[in-house]
Amino acid sequence: PFYQRAHFLTAATRLDQTPADSGREVAFAGRSNAGKSSAINTLCHQKSLARTSKTPGRTQQIIFFELDAERRLVDLPGYGYAKVSEAIKLQWQQHLANYLEYRRSLAGLVIVMDIRHPLTEFDRRMLDWGRRGERSILLLLTKADKLKRGAAQATRLAVEREVANDDGRVAVRLFSALERQGVETVQGLLDRWLEV
Ligand code: GDP
Repeated sequence: PFYQRAHFLTAATRLDQTPADSGREVAFAGRSNAGKSSAINTLCHQKSLARTSKTPGRTQQIIFFELDAERRLVDLPGYGYAKVSEAIKLQWQQHLANYLEYRRSLAGLVIVMDIRHPLTEFDRRMLDWGRRGERSILLLLTKADKLKRGAAQATRLAVEREVANDDGRVAVRLFSALERQGVETVQGLLDRWLEV
């Protein structure tokens, strides 16, 4: 319900440009083209809140959307696409690692993965950083419509088995922006993370 109220707050190219570290936020990460923008837009019932990572100039920005005075959604730069130098990439990874590890208001991290290519090297790195910061983590297997139901469930189970841990802080869910699959389930998870 209140996801519909999400609106652009600010874009940060450096960590010192991020909004005050208070309240709660949930960040979305993902390989470029994984379906991150579509997932954010579908969850917020909006058509073009999050823009595709191909939009020039947006690739390296952290975008903050405000839900209300105390809650935010955060669109992290898509990785794997931007044609930038290795030095810049490394600098950005350091920024991201710092954000994921030290941002106090960051309640949870959603790692968006194309169900046909789950757990890429960078996904695993994000997972590590998120875990180090003791975040709740959701691995969102999107484009589930691309697989048959049985194959999609099998992938979910395989991913679950691979990331299994004792603390139960990592959830794995199927999603499809195209068929609006998983929307209520994911909103329910985020609701809990965003409780203040
Ligand atoms: P981003 O780069 O991670 O933000 O990815 P986008 O949201 O821009 O999506 C990348 C491509 O995947 C686009 O062509 C989308 O139309 C397509 N896509 C995104 N989500 C889905 C989905 O749930 N199902 C299908 N079939 N295609 C999707």
